[in-house]
Amino acid sequence: MSIKLEKAVQKFYDGLEEGKLYGRKCTKCNAVEFPPVYACNTCGCWDMEWVEVSGRAVMKSIVMPAALSSKPEYSALGPYAYGEVELEEGSTFNAVVKGMTKKKRRELLDKLPLPVHAEIFQRDGYKTVVFALDEEA
Ligand SMILES: [Zn+2]
Repeated sequence: MSIKLEKAVQKFYDGLEEGKLYGRKCTKCNAVEFPPVYACNTCGCWDMEWVEVSGRAVMKSIVMPAALSSKPEYSALGPYAYGEVELEEGSTFNAVVKGMTKKKRRELLDKLPLPVHAEIFQRDGYKTVVFALDEEA
């Protein structure tokens, strides 16, 4: 089980190196899970296959990180917050959204949901996925 999980994570990170975002699609109910998980959150089925996802999404909430929990590995990213993000493929999860200050959050709160897109961010040693507002692309 743990070996299997490492393989899944590897596929995901290999995808990021190629500039691709991989999610897992349930072969039973077609729900797409991103970031990849083993069992479908919708129907519990374990029969999932890899699919490339677009990275297009909407941000439904914005939460500023607490000062103490702010992560040094994201310092190169500039100001960021956490947002509830729903991919156009249907998966909803919490993501890092860059370019977000307290002031900006106040301006944007009434306008939610807002279109965002995934960007691949180089952290020390590996890449990860963050989201950015479409208007700043
Ligand atoms: Zn399913």
